Amino acid sequence: PARPPGIGHPPRLPAGALTEAEAKALAAAYGIPVTRGILARSVEEAILAAEAIGYPVVLKGVSRAVVHKSDLGLVKLNLPNAAALRAAYAALPDIRLEGVLVQEMARGEAELILGARWEPGFGPMVLVGAGGVLVELLRDVQLMPAPLRPEDAAAMLRRLALWPVLDGVRGRPALDVRAAVEALVRLSWLAADLGPRLIEMDLNPLLLRAAGRGAVAVDARATIG
Ligand code: ADP
Ligand code: MG
Repeated sequence: PARPPGIGHPPRLPAGALTEAEAKALAAAYGIPVTRGILARSVEEAILAAEAIGYPVVLKGVSRAVVHKSDLGLVKLNLPNAAALRAAYAALPDIRLEGVLVQEMARGEAELILGARWEPGFGPMVLVGAGGVLVELLRDVQLMPAPLRPEDAAAMLRRLALWPVLDGVRGRPALDVRAAVEALVRLSWLAADLGPRLIEMDLNPLLLRAAGRGAVAVDARATIG
């Protein structure tokens, strides 16, 4: 398959679990759109970050040890102003954090999961499915070896149970399937380039907007070997 344009060299990566910000920087290096975010180490820094990004914002506690942030109360969505941000900061659970991530509050019509992993004895694989915090419950995923051609990525999306939602059903708008295809192809090249060093990565969720309005990854995780 043809390599998409605008992919540089993969950044130097430490071994182990990446933070959300590090995993998003890796995705962004492959041209995958990610939410704007600033790492802060105090509530005052968080407020400055929120002013730079613009309200409403999202506040997330950062810890490499945590896999599901929302389960621990580490994700505070849609904070409209500094008072709400202060309250959310004060309500973070009492666990050791590397800081807090202040992010733009993104909007989308559907949540996808995009994943990549190295399968020993087989090679790099990518996955796409119905995403968000219910992903394990829904089990609506498709897998293929990387790298992908755009037509492979499109075929994976069409095989999902979620497909009618992406395609526009019952008066709902058709979503930006091209943006989802583009993100999946780019993730597949990331997986192919990193090879066995990419133990696993997921973008969950990638928010998908109406056709022509694009997609954005609001969460990312990766483990590097
Ligand atoms: P985790 O998956 O570790 O629990 P996420 O960062 O995925 O944490 O946040 C949980 C949910 O909150 C996401 O599935 C998404 O629905 C929503 N969310 C997270 N970040 C944003 C954001 N920047 N903008 C809008 N919604 C978000
Ligand atoms: Mg998530």
